[in-house]
Amino acid sequence: MGIPVAKSDRFDVRTIVAAVKRAAGTPNGMLALHEPVFAGNEIAYLEQCIKSTFVSSVGKFVDRFEEMLAETTGAKRAVAVVNGTAALHACFRLAGVEPGDEVISPALTFIATTNAIAYCGASPHFVDSSLQTLGMDAQALGARLDAVAQRGPEGTTNRETGRRIAAIVPMHTFGHPVDMDEIVAIAKHWDIPVVEDAAESLGSTYKGRAVGSEARLAALSFNGNKIVTTGGGGAILTNDEELGRRAKHITTTAKLPHKWAFVHDEIGFNYRLPNLNAALGCAQLEQLDGFLASKRRLAAAYDRAFAGVPGVAFAREPEGTTSNYWLNAILLDEAHAGQRDEVLAALNDSGFGARPAWTLMHRLPMFAASPRGDLSVAESIERRLINLPSSASIQARND
Ligand SMILES: *Cc1c(COP(=O)(O)O)cnc(C)c1O
Repeated sequence: MGIPVAKSDRFDVRTIVAAVKRAAGTPNGMLALHEPVFAGNEIAYLEQCIKSTFVSSVGKFVDRFEEMLAETTGAKRAVAVVNGTAALHACFRLAGVEPGDEVISPALTFIATTNAIAYCGASPHFVDSSLQTLGMDAQALGARLDAVAQRGPEGTTNRETGRRIAAIVPMHTFGHPVDMDEIVAIAKHWDIPVVEDAAESLGSTYKGRAVGSEARLAALSFNGNKIVTTGGGGAILTNDEELGRRAKHITTTAKLPHKWAFVHDEIGFNYRLPNLNAALGCAQLEQLDGFLASKRRLAAAYDRAFAGVPGVAFAREPEGTTSNYWLNAILLDEAHAGQRDEVLAALNDSGFGARPAWTLMHRLPMFAASPRGDLSVAESIERRLINLPSSASIQARND
């Protein structure tokens, strides 16, 4: 006979549902995983935009949105584009990714990161994730490069595939910043450019600096489920003026400025963000500080509610960072990974729009043959992670 375990000390799906209720309240209907909040100048700006007739690819809201983004992120230049995937595609092009290259990426990410690599004719090369940040593990990155990379006349190549390693793309998962200093140092050692997938992390900080300003190039998303939305939209951030100019050029059909002539000097993209969407974005960015405060209150409430719940850990912002807590996440202990779907079902049955992590990229048929290092941490996170409702509109209950 062992020591009797009190009922409350054991893993129980009901205690998880109860903890979510303590933090987020009892839902009236279905509480979405993430829904937008339109509580500012959205309608006023949209009306102004429509009345101006400039609803399409040029207009003052695009310029203003870009200026506001540069100010918010501390980046020298922000270029608004049609979505985050397009922003990543343009970033990879600007970083010099070419057909036949490899780009080092986490396997635990949204499909956009990996698709954008493929749009360049390049192949992803997956490295493991960190349990602390849920993003690219700097140590795993360093170890993988030590194992397969070699320097040559045309840059760093993968000894096993013979392909050039053209970029590294860390992603700040659910808003939690990765260890950028470590990743940038490793990238510098191997002379590989870094493109930051900051799609989920607008408003997060790393060592006091806004996320998105660490690498030479970063991509943001303003999809409907992100912290700030333009309906659909994205942006390229850079501190390099020449790259900023090139980013604008290649995302606006590479047209040479002229009063009337249509001359284009390379194959560019029509990735422009319409003025209508930018108008929405300006109104949304004005509210970013309020969204952040509300989301961080909710995260603190989840953290408190899950303290002492057996078999579950709340995913806290990594040390030295502040997360925008775009999506709150809990991790079941490995022993209870088999009950993840039971927890998901119980939460959804109780009106909480909880979701599992993305299916890891190397499991998808398009990327199953891509090169990869050991992915055991990413695989463990995939088995155990559950995202919880995280909208800025949710009033934290146990403040
Ligand atoms: C949202 C997101 C993107 C961009 O997605 P779009 O829908 O194209 O704006 C890119 N990467 C990650 C990790 C994302 O979550």
